[in-house]
Amino acid sequence: MESNVRVRFAPSPTGPLHIGGVRTALYNYLFAKKHNGTFVLRIEDTDQTRYVANAEQYIIDSLEWCKIPFDEGPGKNEKFGPYRQSERKELYKKYADILLNSGWAYYAFDTSEELDAHRKGHETKGKTFIYNWHNREKGRLVNSLVLTDAEVKAKITAGENYVIRFKTPQDEILRMEDEIRGNITIDTNTLDDKILFKSDGMPTYHLANIVDDHLMEISHVIRGEEWLPSMPLHILLYRAFGWNSPKFAHLPLILKPVGKGKLSKRDGDKLGFPVFPLAYTNEGSNDVSRGYKEDGYFADGFINMLALLGWNPGTEQEIFSLEELVQSFDLNRVSKSGAKFNPDKTNWFQQQYMQAKEDSELADTYCAILEEKGIYKDKYFVKKVVSSIKERAIFVTDFWDLSSFFFEAPKEYDAKASKKNWKEGTPELMNELIEVLNNIQDFSSKNTETKIKEWITQKGIGFGKVMQPLRLSLVGALKGPHLFDIIEMIGKEATIKRLENAILKL
Ligand code: GLU
Repeated sequence: MESNVRVRFAPSPTGPLHIGGVRTALYNYLFAKKHNGTFVLRIEDTDQTRYVANAEQYIIDSLEWCKIPFDEGPGKNEKFGPYRQSERKELYKKYADILLNSGWAYYAFDTSEELDAHRKGHETKGKTFIYNWHNREKGRLVNSLVLTDAEVKAKITAGENYVIRFKTPQDEILRMEDEIRGNITIDTNTLDDKILFKSDGMPTYHLANIVDDHLMEISHVIRGEEWLPSMPLHILLYRAFGWNSPKFAHLPLILKPVGKGKLSKRDGDKLGFPVFPLAYTNEGSNDVSRGYKEDGYFADGFINMLALLGWNPGTEQEIFSLEELVQSFDLNRVSKSGAKFNPDKTNWFQQQYMQAKEDSELADTYCAILEEKGIYKDKYFVKKVVSSIKERAIFVTDFWDLSSFFFEAPKEYDAKASKKNWKEGTPELMNELIEVLNNIQDFSSKNTETKIKEWITQKGIGFGKVMQPLRLSLVGALKGPHLFDIIEMIGKEATIKRLENAILKL
């Protein structure tokens, strides 16, 4: 049964989704699923100056790849829709008016030049200018707290630019509770009167966010630490409207692998790892950013890694399926301090997931890669290849390098290995080996191994004298799985052909 737990992921479509954003979405998803709740996607696109058209689709595609789909959002179960704030524009003015009428907000007409002058004036006195109870009614600022109603009306009718500011209460120690950080208190005298609405008809983030969380019946706001400074205003806004406030949980930052500071795209570029789930092309340019998907990471391993970046299960367990994460996730075990990003650990997870994947699933992926190369092999064969090379692979893209010899004859031979192992007498020995192979009917790995080893023993020579040139002829280098398994897989004809080739070329 559906519960009252309703959480939302509320990204602004300003570019690709950073892995910090993916983690926020993931924790919201896990929390929702754990409590049989609903995971909402809301697009916060009120800031048109930062709007990027392909970003919303990128966000949706990312959640899909990560397999953490939203239950409600643009185009899906639009029970509380629309879910794009730009499409809810008409709504917000009404709520700004409610605050104006109840005295929780006021019009302000100060121009940006005037505000700059105030800032500079304060700076020269070693002070910081804050628009709040200190000065809002002293007459130096132009707002509806000091102007008469008629003056305010006249300015608005004349088309003067205005903003609507929140009237922060004075002299109060505001007590707040964060699910992760516990009790937080703040002196309201230190807060500025934030802008809620602008004369262009657009709400600011703060107003739109609170109104929508209320109307969408959000029970828990789980978001990044960078929004913690907004929490007092948000709590005060709920109070001003007379609404119950949702519970808040502010997640720790994801930090650079070395040192302090938030993980940025630059860190990824410098150290060679992606910071985005999917590759992203900047609109109007050829600047492509790498993505975990395109770099060959498994979505489930990536999600597992992200889940543990700031949360711990309280046990030693590190490998979790999404279902297990849902069961174990608990906001109480999310840490307050930042989580250092470790690209090596990401690769470790990738490797663990590679080993745990079913050969059959990997074979499907590999078949598609082979087909792109024009190689069509039945899945049974490809599955056998996969099982013989998997333990040496981290990415599916490693498969070809580790197994091309199962599909085609070597085009060249490793020079160093050839020099060391293809000696005088080797061609004659290989010709004799061809004879031996010609006489073998059962080409199973076991049988060819027995027969060839018998022949070598009879000849009284070292195994290496035969095995190394044979491997070189079949693989092109001294690498690869058990030699007789390769022979069984490629079969009699190809084995002999490759030996003949090597005799000609080496
Ligand atoms: N639109 C904000 C963002 O881009 C949402 C913050 C919040 O979750 O309240 O992160």
